[in-house]
Amino acid sequence: MSEKFIPEHIDPFRYAEQSLRLSGAVKIADMHRLSTTIGSTNDDTVAVDLEFGVDEQGMTFLKGHLKTQLTLECQRCMEPFVYEIISNFVLGIVSTLDEANALPEHYEPALAKDGSLALRELIEDEIILNLPIIPRHEPEDCKVKLPLADVEWESEKRESPFHVLQSLKDKQK
Ligand SMILES: [Zn+2]
Repeated sequence: MSEKFIPEHIDPFRYAEQSLRLSGAVKIADMHRLSTTIGSTNDDTVAVDLEFGVDEQGMTFLKGHLKTQLTLECQRCMEPFVYEIISNFVLGIVSTLDEANALPEHYEPALAKDGSLALRELIEDEIILNLPIIPRHEPEDCKVKLPLADVEWESEKRESPFHVLQSLKDKQK
């Protein structure tokens, strides 16, 4: 495991101008919303690979890849199980809500406040987005055996994690 850790905040526009890449780890324990959700005893890390750049339209973007194995508690048998998350995302870096609304569709907006991007928070959002709504074993691995008809195993889609933008929108109403 890499010893290098991802900084909490960076200047995304400077990183993009220089087409920088960042690879490293983030500790689950440093992501408080996430560690509260899944249990604070978790000492796992997330492996992160980030690539900054400017596209042909002059849009600053961040391409990210993350991978982690989290220990979650099955909500049926209450035993721990390992849940792997592998996620790729492409974000368009914006400074204002107008810029966010004008983004091409293939970008998710990420808001840079005063030229600073909260990198770890963004990674945390991405992981929370990929968590199961109700953590539980696969049916064949779970100690609690219920008839399958009684259980909905399909995972549901979570809402967008960009609370910052949502709260900005609310303020403008
Ligand atoms: Zn279980």
